[in-house]
Amino acid sequence: MIDDRTLIDGLSALVGPSRVMTAEADKAPHLREWRDLFKGEARAVVKPASAAEMAACVRFCVEHGVPMVPQGGNTGLVGGQIPPPGSGAVILSTARMNAIREVDPVSDTMVVEAGATLAAVQAAAEAQGRLFPLSLASEGSCTIGGNIATNAGGTAVLAYGNTRELVLGLEAVLPDGSIWNGLSRLRKDNTGYDLRGLLIGAEGTLGIVTAAVLKLFPLPAARSTLICGLESVEAALALMARFKAGAAGTLTTFELMPRFGIEVVLRHSPGTREPLEGACPWYVLAETSGGDGAALEAASAAILEAAFEAGEVIDAAIATSSAQRQAFWRLREAMSEVQRLEGGSIKHDVSVPVADVPRFIAAASAAVTAFLPGCRPLPFGHLGDGNIHFNVSQPVGMDREAFLVHWNAMNTLVHGIVADMSGSVSAEHGIGRLKRDLLPAVKDPAALAVMRAIKQALDPQGLMNPGAVV
Ligand SMILES: Cc1cc2nc3c(=O)[nH]c(=O)nc-3n(C[C@H](O)[C@H](O)[C@H](O)COP(=O)(O)OP(=O)(O)OC[C@H]3O[C@@H](n4cnc5c(N)ncnc54)[C@H](O)[C@@H]3O)c2cc1C
Repeated sequence: MIDDRTLIDGLSALVGPSRVMTAEADKAPHLREWRDLFKGEARAVVKPASAAEMAACVRFCVEHGVPMVPQGGNTGLVGGQIPPPGSGAVILSTARMNAIREVDPVSDTMVVEAGATLAAVQAAAEAQGRLFPLSLASEGSCTIGGNIATNAGGTAVLAYGNTRELVLGLEAVLPDGSIWNGLSRLRKDNTGYDLRGLLIGAEGTLGIVTAAVLKLFPLPAARSTLICGLESVEAALALMARFKAGAAGTLTTFELMPRFGIEVVLRHSPGTREPLEGACPWYVLAETSGGDGAALEAASAAILEAAFEAGEVIDAAIATSSAQRQAFWRLREAMSEVQRLEGGSIKHDVSVPVADVPRFIAAASAAVTAFLPGCRPLPFGHLGDGNIHFNVSQPVGMDREAFLVHWNAMNTLVHGIVADMSGSVSAEHGIGRLKRDLLPAVKDPAALAVMRAIKQALDPQGLMNPGAVV
C-alpha cells in the first residue's frame, strides 16, 4: 500500500489540499457514530465536489490498492460508514455534493446530489408545492445518498414505500472509477438489468451514489394527527384496520410506542409532555392526510368513537394545532435518541408479518427478561410495516459495559423468534458491519452466492467499503 504522503498528495492534487482532511480533530466527527458503537480509523477524509472529482479519487485509490468507505451524514445504525481500525481506508464523503439541481412539479420529479440532507430535499420539494415523503428522525443530518444506499424506511412507508420505491434514476461512481449516468426521469424503462435497484440498499459496497432523480407526490393540503392510548398491541392492530377502512384520506403513519418509551422521552427530552391524561400500556401515533381537513378530522373522530365503544382505545387526543402536532411527533422522533441516556441499549431492527407483531413482542419480551431479569424491553416503531425496533435497555443500576456484553446472546434469542416467524433481522437499517456475520445464517444460500458474485464482478479487488454487507 502506498505511504501516507503519496496518498495525501495524490488526492490533494485531485480535489484540492483543503478537501483532504488528515488532522485527528477534523477526522473525528467522521469516525464515531452517534451511539458510540463503532469507532474507526481513516488515513484521510476526502470531500470531492462533483461526480468527476469523486471518480478521479476512486480511480486513484483503485490504482494504489487503497480501500474506500463512502460516507454521507454518518447517521447509519449498522456501522457501514465507519472504516474499522487498521483497515487503511480513506473516507469518501459526499458532504460537498449537496445541490438540489432541479424540482419539476409537472413531471413530479426532482434531481438532487447525494450529499443533500433529507430535510433539505423535503424543503425544496415543499417550496414547489410537492411532497418528497421519505421521513426519518435523522432527516436533519442524514443524506439522500445515504438513504438510497441503505434503502431507508421511516415513518411514511405505509403510504409511500421505502426509498427504493421513491427513486427513478441514479448517477454513481462504480468501484472501477467509471461514472454511470442513470439519471433517468422515466417511469417506464425495460432495457435490461436494473442497476438502479442493485445500487439501492448496497450500502456503498457496489459504488458511490453521486446524484438521484426522486419521485414527488402532491403535498397534502391537510393532515390529521392523533395519539391513542391502548391496552395491547392487538388493540393497536384493530385500530389500524379501522383507519385503513375508514380514514377520509390516506393513512400515512401508524407508529407504536410502549409506555416505557414515553417515560424515557419525558425523562430525557426537554419540553416534552404527557400526551394523554393517564398512563397507558401502549400508544399509537397515527396520521392521515388528504385534501379536506374537516373531513379528515371527522373521520378520525368517528373511528376513535367506534374504537372506544369496542373497548380498543383507552384514551386519545387529536392534534388541534400545528404546535400540538409537532409535540406528538416529538415523542416518537425523540424515542431513538434518548435511549442512550438510560444506559446501554441492545438493538434489534426486525420485521415480521404485520399480524404477528403482537406475538413477536410478547415472545421476545419474555425471552429477554428471562435471560436477563431486570432488563427493560422498549419495542417501538413502524407497526404498519411490521417493523419493530426491539430495543432492550439495561437493568437500572447495572454497569453499561457489563450489560452490552450480552449483545450477541440477546440478538440470538430475538433473531431466533424472528426466524420462527419468517421475519427479517434487518428491516430498514441494513447489514453494514454490525450484521454482516449474521447474513450467512439468514439469507438464502443461492441469493448470497449471487450477491457475492455481483460484488466480485464489480469490485474484484474488494476495495469499495470492504467488510460491509458481504
Ligand atoms: C435518530 C435516528 C433515527 C433513524 N431512523 C431511521 C428510520 O426510521 N428508518 C431508517 O431506515 N433509518 C433510520 N435511521 C438510520 C439512518 O439515518 C439511515 O440509515 C440513513 O439512511 C443513513 O444516511 P446517512 O447519510 O447518514 O448515511 P451514512 O451513515 O453516512 O452511511 C450509511 C451507509 O450508506 C453508505 N453511503 C452513504 N452515502 C453513500 C453514497 N452517496 N453512495 C453510496 N453509499 C453511501 C455508507 O457507506 C454506509 O454503508 C435513523 C438514525 C438515527 C440516528
